[in-house]
Amino acid sequence: MNEKINQYLSGLQKPSIEWLLKIEEEANRDKVPIMERSGIDFLKQILRIQQPKHILEIGTAIGYSALQMIDAVPNTTVVTVERDHDRIQRAKFHFEQYDRLKKIELIAGDALECVEEISEKGPYDAIFIDAAKGQYKRFFDCFSPLLTDHGIVITDNILFHGSVVDSSQVPKRLQKLAGKINQYNHWLSNHSDFQTIFVPIGDGIAISTKVKEGSINE
Ligand code: SAH
Ligand code: MG
Repeated sequence: MNEKINQYLSGLQKPSIEWLLKIEEEANRDKVPIMERSGIDFLKQILRIQQPKHILEIGTAIGYSALQMIDAVPNTTVVTVERDHDRIQRAKFHFEQYDRLKKIELIAGDALECVEEISEKGPYDAIFIDAAKGQYKRFFDCFSPLLTDHGIVITDNILFHGSVVDSSQVPKRLQKLAGKINQYNHWLSNHSDFQTIFVPIGDGIAISTKVKEGSINE
C-alpha cells in the first residue's frame, strides 16, 4: 500500500497495552516473528465481532498472539500449539505471569503430530494458522474439519513481506516459501467449501468462512 496511507493509518492506531508492549520488545530483541501490530489489531476486531468460545492457534511462539486474543475476547479459551522448546518455556512463563493459565492451554509438539490431541480438545469456533509457512495447506486440511458450523479460519503472513508478489529480492530459501504461500493462497481462493477474503494488513491475513448450504456459489 502507498507509504503515506500506511503512515496515516498507523497514526490512528492506539499504542499497545503496556504489559503486551513488554512481550513485543522481547520478541523484537530476540527476533521472534510475532504478528505485526496492525495485523493483531485486525485479528482482535474480527474476534470481537465473531465472539468465539474456543480458539485453536497453530504456532504459539512466546505467547503474544494468544494473550492478545484473550484480551479481545476474555470469555474465550485458547488451545495453542508450539514445537520449539525454548519458545514453549517462554510462552508458559508469560501465561503464568499474566494469570492466563486457565484460559490458554499449550500443547507442546509438532501440530501435525498432535492431530488427535488437538481434535479431542475441539471443536473450535476460530482457527488461527501462524506456523511453518510451507505447511499451510496441510494445517488447513488437518484442522478445518474441527470447525463449528459458523467457524472461521484466519491465516497470517499470506503476503510474506510482499515476496509472494515479487520474490526476486529475497534469498532462494525464502523464494521457495513464498512460492508455497502463493500456491496456498490460490488453492484457498478456489476451495469449494470455503469463502476467503485476502486482506493486505500486517503481513497479509486471509479470513475463510464455510460456504453455507443454500448460498449460490457460481
Ligand atoms: N502466533 C505467534 C507467532 C508464531 S511464529 C504470534 O504472533 O505471537 C511461528 C511459530 O510456529 C514458531 O514459533 C515455530 O516454532 C512454530 N511452528 C512452526 N511449525 C510448527 C508446527 N508444525 N507445529 C507447531 N509449531 C510450529
Ligand atoms: Mg505470523
